[in-house]
Amino acid sequence: MSNANDLYKRAIFDHNRNPRNFRVIEDASHVCDGFNPLCGDKINVFVKMSDADTIEDISFMGSGCAIFKASASFMTSHVKGKSRKETEGVISMFLDMVKGETQTESLNADLGKLTIFQGIREFPARVKCATLAWHTLSCAMEKKRENDIVTNQESNQ
Ligand code: ZN
Repeated sequence: MSNANDLYKRAIFDHNRNPRNFRVIEDASHVCDGFNPLCGDKINVFVKMSDADTIEDISFMGSGCAIFKASASFMTSHVKGKSRKETEGVISMFLDMVKGETQTESLNADLGKLTIFQGIREFPARVKCATLAWHTLSCAMEKKRENDIVTNQESNQ
């Protein structure tokens, strides 16, 4: 148990300090913004879908706590190259996992390293920090980029 906790803490620390895919994709096809008022975490998710409906590229920008940033970093690394269907499956598995609705054994095969976020169940107040990026990705996949999307200014919509 303490090994799992150590692994969890180290991974969060590493991804928070050095987040993967932390940049803007100028020609993203799908984007969405998310906000977690409980903690103040803010995110913009950028997705570039290929003609075959797979995630050709994905990135995020934003600011917030370490759990939020690490979760977004892990998410972008994990779903890059996956089809829409696979990605939707991973999103729902991850959300069920952090809410404590799935068994560990079935998760390891499908979620791999993402299972370190199971530890978040013990901190209910932080669950929204861990899920923000995933809800925002789900939103981005549903809506195509609009012409007047906000990237550099504060969103006031
Ligand atoms: Zn947070």
